[in-house]
Amino acid sequence: MIIQLSPNVTSEEKKAILAKLDDLKIKANIVSTQFKNYIVGIPKTDFDIRSIGTMKGIADIHCVSDAYKLVSKKWKVNNTIIDLGNNVTIGGKELAIMAGPCSIEGEKQIEHTVQHLLKNNIKIMRGGVYKPRSSPYAFRGMGMDGLKLFYKHCSENGIKVITEVMQVSQVEEMIDYVDIFQVGARNSQNFNLLDALGSVDKAVLIKRGMSGTIEELLASAEYVFSNGNEKIMLCERGIRTFENAYRNTLDLNAVPILKEKSHLPVIVDPSHGIGLRQHVATMALAGVMSGADGIIVEVHENPEIAFSDGQQTLYDGQAESLYKKLRATKELVNSF
Ligand code: PEP
Ligand code: MN
Repeated sequence: MIIQLSPNVTSEEKKAILAKLDDLKIKANIVSTQFKNYIVGIPKTDFDIRSIGTMKGIADIHCVSDAYKLVSKKWKVNNTIIDLGNNVTIGGKELAIMAGPCSIEGEKQIEHTVQHLLKNNIKIMRGGVYKPRSSPYAFRGMGMDGLKLFYKHCSENGIKVITEVMQVSQVEEMIDYVDIFQVGARNSQNFNLLDALGSVDKAVLIKRGMSGTIEELLASAEYVFSNGNEKIMLCERGIRTFENAYRNTLDLNAVPILKEKSHLPVIVDPSHGIGLRQHVATMALAGVMSGADGIIVEVHENPEIAFSDGQQTLYDGQAESLYKKLRATKELVNSF
């Protein structure tokens, strides 16, 4: 059960609601986000919602049977639109395109990518500075020095930054240089990290874990929301299956299902999803057709010498032709 408190609820009214829940043996979780105040009640047995619903201080009340509650579409029927400022939004009619290298490699590369994005009217640049790598000998990112350069060039040009955060202690040091925190597939169920990202007012993109179910992804989003941050997007980036003809199995079934179950924007990552440059564009377009609100894609001026994920990274020219097709496809989807 979710109770949304009135904006002008008094502390007496709140106390009375909590006392009532206590009487009914309903465990109450108080959730205060950057936008609203809620009480998420977990009842053990059936109860009559009318016994609470008429109390003063309640703006809205609803029973949500799903394991996840605040991110459920049963609670909030209108799709969430995340506002990053400067007219950059995610979740509306316009497709959100996030593009950039797998890893931030240096100032020249950042400058080149920024020019590429400006030329193509792309408002969000991706790039990792903390890289989760299977081998400890692989390039693991430029860290904070790279992030500061990345943010400097982007903010000077009106471009928003999305980058991966790998551990709780990085949240604080990164926060002033990030517009969207990316939670990578390997950290999709790092609950301490999700808790920490719930207490900041920055957008969070949560990738689906390699063997994560849709319900688990939604539960991860619930961690962030219930800790106080409503600016969340969900990302399908492929799961690990028996198939080894490609890097991962991009599960586009997840897109309509996530859109049905949740009000949060859904982003598709075709680069990690298929892992083969020659098929990234096709899967990106399929992602838009399946209902995605955005696409995150890897692009590099010379993928052959990229420090990571070169095999799945688009050349500038390929990306440019993809952006046009993505936008045209989104128009088509909007017209259905
Ligand atoms: C990335 O975005 O470069 C990345 C490491 O993604 P994932 O967590 O999906 O593997
Ligand atoms: Mn990558």
